[in-house]
Amino acid sequence: MRARLGRLELPHGVVDTPQFMPVGTNATVKALDPVDLDAAGASIVLANTYHLYLRPGHERIERLGGLHRFMGWDRPILTDSGGYQVVSLADARVVDEAGATFRSHIDGSTHQLTPEKAIAIQESLGPDIAVAFDHPVFPSSPREEVEDAMERTHRWAERSLEAHGRADQALFGIIQGGVDPELRERSTRFIAGLPFDGICIGGLAGDETPVQRADALDVVIPLLGDDPRPRYLMGLGSPADLLEAVVLGVDLFDSVLPARVARNGQLWVPGGRLNLKNAAFLDDPRPVQEDCPCPLCTRFSRAYLAHLLRARELLSYRLATCHNLTFTLDFMARIRAALRAGTFPDSLASLRARAGRMSPGEVTVEPA
Ligand SMILES: [Zn+2]
Repeated sequence: MRARLGRLELPHGVVDTPQFMPVGTNATVKALDPVDLDAAGASIVLANTYHLYLRPGHERIERLGGLHRFMGWDRPILTDSGGYQVVSLADARVVDEAGATFRSHIDGSTHQLTPEKAIAIQESLGPDIAVAFDHPVFPSSPREEVEDAMERTHRWAERSLEAHGRADQALFGIIQGGVDPELRERSTRFIAGLPFDGICIGGLAGDETPVQRADALDVVIPLLGDDPRPRYLMGLGSPADLLEAVVLGVDLFDSVLPARVARNGQLWVPGGRLNLKNAAFLDDPRPVQEDCPCPLCTRFSRAYLAHLLRARELLSYRLATCHNLTFTLDFMARIRAALRAGTFPDSLASLRARAGRMSPGEVTVEPA
């Protein structure tokens, strides 16, 4: 059992860990405003360097007072470095030693992101936590490709540190290495040996199996030992996956998953999920979740949300997203409470039951 409690003291506030960060891709968590985020229990949000660089531009955001003021969120923000988006979204990308050259997925214009540029953009945006520019690849990529990208990520980590000058901004480095234990070990030793403020575990939450992910974490976390720096597993989002990663020693998470499935009518509840697109819910007067404090459950029925979703009403996106983020952030609070009380090992069975099985592709039994 490597689960641990932590506290990050950042310029815009305190973040208790283990913690989940909702993703505000374009400086907004889709369909929510900061009041909704606050009510859902968010203490930190993630924004995407790649997206904000392309639109509306980091220099414009800086002129307008920085990212916190721009998006009306005065609590902590983490920006990712853009490496993942370059690989997953951009067209015609070419990665060489200098950086990644690519065509914008918005207007086809050509850009280059380098470690130095990614840091400069994040220093302009002004989040509490910036992340070093990396070269991610799918966990299932050939070993040679994974090794090559890992070595490049290491060289780029050193350049990112060299380029970073903002004393009021933390900088996290990223471990790569896919699902190969030897590469994971090398990458962990290298990145942990650099003076980063936190350690991101990249290259997972992709196409690996849960067993491969657990095996990779079993290499990384013991090597980090009692290193107090936060460990952030990038891209993981279902409560069941979050819980197992906390057990293995991870402190921080982010994912679009709770919000994305919400907009698709999947509502997370204790023990599983409700698919509000199922016609049975059109006549169901009960709230989505009886004891949930979110704006959906305190005011509206399953029938109303099922109707809004079918009519593609905009309100459905907000209400469903508020609920899934409230559920996820409450779940993390329950994990922290159990850790604080020293009852986490005894609480695992009930936490697992509450999380249900919500990983993509897994069969879910809907609660009665
Ligand atoms: Zn709710």
